[in-house]
Amino acid sequence: MSETKARETGCTCKVGPGKFEGEPAEVFMAWQQATGGNSDATTGEDPAVEWLRAPLNLDADQEVVKAARDYGYCDACIEDAGQDVRGGMALWEDNQGFVYARTFQTRKGFDGALDEAEAEDEAEAEDEAEGEGEGDDE
Ligand SMILES: [Zn+2]
Repeated sequence: MSETKARETGCTCKVGPGKFEGEPAEVFMAWQQATGGNSDATTGEDPAVEWLRAPLNLDADQEVVKAARDYGYCDACIEDAGQDVRGGMALWEDNQGFVYARTFQTRKGFDGALDEAEAEDEAEAEDEAEGEGEGDDE
């Protein structure tokens, strides 16, 4: 977290405790996008990580905007959400139901991290395939 909130003027967010406690509107909105089927990739299982590549266009979906408003985020924050994110975001939910995000400020950083996560998934899939043998084909 850095200057992304610096130009925030007159924020009136009222986000209570829970899933998105302490998280900015962009995390809430990116999570709605990702779980609504708009993620660019999903990696891992426990937890599954949803990847959203910038530009995020978080306010493109009026359902997401409405959900953020209903949740207690103010219009200023909703409008600004994700505008400063140049690379992308990775989001996941912990086993308590709290949502966390990692923000990437460069496309390179985002792609690098995604490649790494995908390589890990592949390595794991190979391990499993070796362990279970044949006979499980769809
Ligand atoms: Zn606000």
